[in-house]
Amino acid sequence: MPEAKSYDVLVVGMGPAGATAAYELSRAGMAVLGLDKQAHPRYKACGGGLSVRIEQILESDFKTVIEHTIYGVQFTYRGERPFLLESSRPIAYMVMRDRFDHLLVEKARRAGTEVHEDERAIEFHERPDWVEVVTDKGRYRTKVLIGADGANSVVAQRLFPERRLRRMPTLESEIGIGQTPVYPGEGKVLIDLGATERGYAWIFPKKERLSIGVAEFRGRPASPKGIFERFVRDEKGLATLTVPQPFGHPLPLYGSRNGAGGIAAPTALVRHRALLVGDAGHLVDPLFGEGIYYAVRSGQMAAASVLGSFHDRQRSLLDYDLAVNREIYPEFRIASRMARIVYTVPRLCHSLMHRSQEVIRLYYDVLQGRETYQTFFLKAKGLIKASFRELLREALPFS
Ligand SMILES: Cc1cc2nc3c(=O)[nH]c(=O)nc-3n(C[C@H](O)[C@H](O)[C@H](O)COP(=O)(O)OP(=O)(O)OC[C@H]3O[C@@H](n4cnc5c(N)ncnc54)[C@H](O)[C@@H]3O)c2cc1C
Repeated sequence: MPEAKSYDVLVVGMGPAGATAAYELSRAGMAVLGLDKQAHPRYKACGGGLSVRIEQILESDFKTVIEHTIYGVQFTYRGERPFLLESSRPIAYMVMRDRFDHLLVEKARRAGTEVHEDERAIEFHERPDWVEVVTDKGRYRTKVLIGADGANSVVAQRLFPERRLRRMPTLESEIGIGQTPVYPGEGKVLIDLGATERGYAWIFPKKERLSIGVAEFRGRPASPKGIFERFVRDEKGLATLTVPQPFGHPLPLYGSRNGAGGIAAPTALVRHRALLVGDAGHLVDPLFGEGIYYAVRSGQMAAASVLGSFHDRQRSLLDYDLAVNREIYPEFRIASRMARIVYTVPRLCHSLMHRSQEVIRLYYDVLQGRETYQTFFLKAKGLIKASFRELLREALPFS
């Protein structure tokens, strides 16, 4: 049998997390192989909403694939009680994932990554000095393995069996309408907090289509399909459109269930010579399910720790875990606390948001990268308490 070809780093999965890690490592001179079981451009069930702060971490060429720039959100509760909150500056960009991911894969390729598409990684054998990766087309040796293979990661299942994390059901449909969508309106997205049991429904406009979806963030709904159909039926703006059957895809949220029914911190993202990034590492915001930003960011952080471990004896792959613990998990812990409140009493939260629009403006600052979840939480607490007291006074005028 011929000797397996060797690489410094083998990346399984060339979505935003894997393509970013491969790009950073290749341009630093590493020998990188990037595998994807599909050929790009490929469809990926995703709303394609990028918070504007992605500008702080991505080179500006991603703007060539922006379909729509978003300045405001139309909030509804079960199709009723609408209110719109706009910002003078953009809060998000809409992309189609086939084009966005393809752009990132091509950048990695141009930087020197050897990209193998239509090749699925199946098995991993850990040796003291390398990992052997077996695919449906061959065998490779690598000094470091990056698992960037998404929500159903085989790298995580095989090499991190102790990670039992939350994967929430989502359904999404894309409807081509052959023209710029007039609904929910120029520069706007729609978010309905009451459409699902403990999650939200969305309509995100693209150049000539709408992405329509529902996601649960806590608990297990009896029928996600029933929830999707009800949302489409009740949403007045969709009344004249025939929405195609939705695709299902799990959303790998941060955190696992602990025995007490709460959310426990997840376990390590580095083991031996393997690292998990993006969805494979459950690096998805537990409040609204934003995953693309964290996929790109974790790809960069993993690449930095790999480079450190190659060039500096004082450093190791474990630096990646430290970096995630420092930068991402504190944010997710706050987002988790907020999710617990929002998805337990969504109707009350919708009313509070309507009253206290300052809180939403502050949240837009998070999307724009001007606040973090941590600073947001400190500032928003007082505003929310004040509007809650006002709401109580109105409901109980003699209290
Ligand atoms: C319905 C839905 C809507 C969403 N909407 C948004 C949104 O609006 N904004 C946002 O920020 N996030 C959103 N997300 C989350 C976002 O899609 C993910 O967080 C993001 O795609 C993670 O990127 P990734 O690179 O980690 O994984 P992925 O994008 O899933 O890429 C993984 C890659 O690995 C490949 N692969 C898998 N297994 C193997 C294997 N064995 N061998 C080789 N290759 C393999 C796949 O083909 C794929 O290309 C949404 C998710 C869902 C499900």
